[in-house]
Amino acid sequence: MGAQDTVATVEGDRQSVPGDSPAPSSADRKLLIDGRLVTAERSFPSVNPATGEEIGHAPDAGIDEAQAAIAAARRAFDTTDWSTNVELRIRCLDQLHQALVDHAEELRDLTIAEVGATRALTHGPQLDEPIGIVRYYADVLRTYPMSEDLGEIESRGMQHHRWVEKEAAGVVGAIIAYNYPNQLALAKLPPALAAGCTVVLKAAPDTPLITLALGELIANHTDFPPGVVNVLSSSDPAVGAALTTSPDVDAITFTGSTATGRKIMAAASETVKRVFLELGGKSAVIMLDDADFTMASMFAAFSMVTHAGQGCALTSRLLVPKTHHDQIVELIAANFANVRHGDPADPKTYMGPLINERQRDKVDGMVQRAVAAGATLVTGGQRLDPGYFYAPTLLTNVDPDSEIAQEEIFGPVLVVIGFDDDDDAVRIANNSIYGLAGAVFSADQDRALTVARQIRAGSFSINGGNYFAADSPFGGFKQSGVGREMGVAGLEEFLERKTYAVPVAGGAA
Ligand code: NAD
Repeated sequence: MGAQDTVATVEGDRQSVPGDSPAPSSADRKLLIDGRLVTAERSFPSVNPATGEEIGHAPDAGIDEAQAAIAAARRAFDTTDWSTNVELRIRCLDQLHQALVDHAEELRDLTIAEVGATRALTHGPQLDEPIGIVRYYADVLRTYPMSEDLGEIESRGMQHHRWVEKEAAGVVGAIIAYNYPNQLALAKLPPALAAGCTVVLKAAPDTPLITLALGELIANHTDFPPGVVNVLSSSDPAVGAALTTSPDVDAITFTGSTATGRKIMAAASETVKRVFLELGGKSAVIMLDDADFTMASMFAAFSMVTHAGQGCALTSRLLVPKTHHDQIVELIAANFANVRHGDPADPKTYMGPLINERQRDKVDGMVQRAVAAGATLVTGGQRLDPGYFYAPTLLTNVDPDSEIAQEEIFGPVLVVIGFDDDDDAVRIANNSIYGLAGAVFSADQDRALTVARQIRAGSFSINGGNYFAADSPFGGFKQSGVGREMGVAGLEEFLERKTYAVPVAGGAA
């Protein structure tokens, strides 16, 4: 392990208001390539979205650095015992988990400052839960069966014994989005490494520092052999694209927009890579007519503004019985009025900012176009300063086929659509190219489950149930993705199966 420890530290008052947020040290962040922390010729700034101020700089890797990282990962996979040495892999994952635990408070401050995640969210899916994923995969690896006996068959007059051995898929290119960078990196790295793969992880351009900090922990506090993990940051999408086209990369695991996912799938087809995609969503929350509307409205409103709506699985379409439409709209608007926004470092803040002005322009543009097309703006629809905040926004009278009801917004915007009966609710919920998640509320759990089972989506919450955990497979139907992350299914995404057979001595049929 190296002696250097460059994870940013934060000093000062954590309760301060936006503009006075403590800035983490802008200590030089480094790329991790072939076991070494290195810089690039150029760098690019990272901005605190709650203030608009720069918090540090990340190396701006180019194609040369990408090729060096790929070559290092290839060499580590092909010429070391990493892929077959289960004990080493368990030890390295245990060390990574311990390093993350030991540095959690520094990582928390950096996550708040760079991602705009609220302090409360860092105690869940923005940091502490992702750290738990590392522990989970270290434990899975301790007991996971790497072979499977298929028994004997009779063929060509002989008995044959067959079995399956599971092997690492090879060199993995991991490309992540900006919204939950710790969750996304740690839902990819640990299962890929547990499987015996080597990895080139590319950070999101809006949140490079927190992902580089992960690379620095690996370099300084673990025994991962050089080249097994490589971490890049770049402002240039060509660096991610280089991973998807390289003949030396065997598999891509990607989290990001469906538009980029389509490009990656096409690019990876040239070399017929395994492609794992976690993409966008437009999930529906359905309140059946016997639901507890007060409780369900609180769930629908507060989940929609979690991380300012920048969550792929958030339920951004609210489907309500036409008979109870106005009552539910009033309840949601009242909940939105209680959403406390502001400095993400303040433990009382519920909603932080959008990631940048471009994202805020996108959200506002979609809201304004919906209103121009005839939707009713019940509340919200405005920018809040300083930083890139946007008010919780509720739209009714929305055409179910319109842009605002069909396209991912990635902001704190909820659209309400009325339905006639349960079948109509199912039809509207399925009227989407996406199929990531969903939620349903009813006093009758069987009725809720009957509705949920008819909706084509990868995860479903019944009456507020939380499905998201290290051991729960997560992923999309339809254009929300291919494959599953987390759980044992997440490990198996990175395993190949090789089938063996031998004639059984003296076993003629
Ligand atoms: P994005 O698609 O713009 O970028 C994601 C990553 O892809 C970035 O690292 C980017 O540099 C890289 N990239 C861009 N073009 C590329 C190319 N041609 N080849 C290879 N890599 C390329 O997404 P974003 O704006 O960062 O994140 C928001 C999106 O991510 C939303 O659509 C959201 O739903 C999705 N998301 C999905 C999940 C999930 O689990 N399904 C989770 C989080 C976010």
